[in-house]
Amino acid sequence: MHVSATKDTCAVASLCVYGVPEVFDQDEDGLVEVLDPNPSGELHDAVRHAARGCPTRSIHIRDVPA
Ligand code: SF4
Repeated sequence: MHVSATKDTCAVASLCVYGVPEVFDQDEDGLVEVLDPNPSGELHDAVRHAARGCPTRSIHIRDVPA
C-alpha cells in the first residue's frame, strides 16, 4: 500500500489524524501530512477507512505488491 494526501483539498477536518495517528499528522496550518506512506499490514484497514471517511476525498491509496 502506498498512501498520499492532497493538501490543496484537505479541509482540516482531522478525521484521518484521529483515526490513524501512525500514518497521518497535520502541519502547522492544520493540513494533512502523511507520516508513513508505506504503512504496515495491520494498519491497512484503518487507512482505507480513513480514506473513505475523508469528507474531501483528499487521501489516496495505491495498492502495490508487498
Ligand atoms: S480527513 Fe481529509 S480533510 Fe480531514 S484532515 Fe484528513 S485529509 Fe484533510
